[in-house]
Amino acid sequence: MGSSPLILVCNDDGVHSEGLAALAAAVQPLGDVVVVAPDRERSAVSHSLTLHRPLRVEEVGAGRHAVNGTPTDCVNLAINGILGRRPSLVLSGINKGANLGDDVTYSGTVSAAMEGTLLGVPSVAVSAVGRGSFRFDAAAAFSARLAAWVLERSLPPDTLLNVNVPAPRDGQPIRGFALTRMGRRRYGDAIVEKVDPRGKKYYWIGGEELEFVQEEGTDFHAVSQGFISVTPIHLDLTNYKSFDALKALDFAWP
Ligand code: MN
Repeated sequence: MGSSPLILVCNDDGVHSEGLAALAAAVQPLGDVVVVAPDRERSAVSHSLTLHRPLRVEEVGAGRHAVNGTPTDCVNLAINGILGRRPSLVLSGINKGANLGDDVTYSGTVSAAMEGTLLGVPSVAVSAVGRGSFRFDAAAAFSARLAAWVLERSLPPDTLLNVNVPAPRDGQPIRGFALTRMGRRRYGDAIVEKVDPRGKKYYWIGGEELEFVQEEGTDFHAVSQGFISVTPIHLDLTNYKSFDALKALDFAWP
């Protein structure tokens, strides 16, 4: 305790997820690790904050806290209240499933890292690509290496790192890691329409496998080639390149 760095670990799969346990265990040698995570799965809640009901924090183990809220609530409560001192690093994950390309905008995992970044703490989100089976060991080992680097060197301002670890494939080893940019999702007929026993229609969103535009240099391409993808994500969403085109917005107002 005392001078060793404080590391906050959060996720969106819930406090009982094995991905969270693997991540917290992997960074244990690097500092004081505190887990503050949702009490149940809150995947795809994005960056939502709970404002209209009270939040409760329950200690579910030594240095492990469950919150009846979103990943963003957890990071906000932890940094502004529960922890007592400022963390040097926020880690979010290891998520069960990819957070690649445009899907980052839905992600609770990435949003926890966004909240850390907004509160001025270097933050990293980690996801394991796959369905059913995941490379938690490799993801945890890589996260520990990266966490040590970030603790020593910090990150550029307003920037989080979004890490995706490739899915297990026929025992193939991971080939390394690559710095990438966000890829583009191919949006298709992802909605499944069914009829319930009373004859009423209902829908499922996102039933299909992920499909992405195959472009070199993207997060999706890296994981499809067996590399861990590391994407620096900037919280300034302004599209600076569009200013020229939007100069045509020259009508008088009021
Ligand atoms: Mn999740």
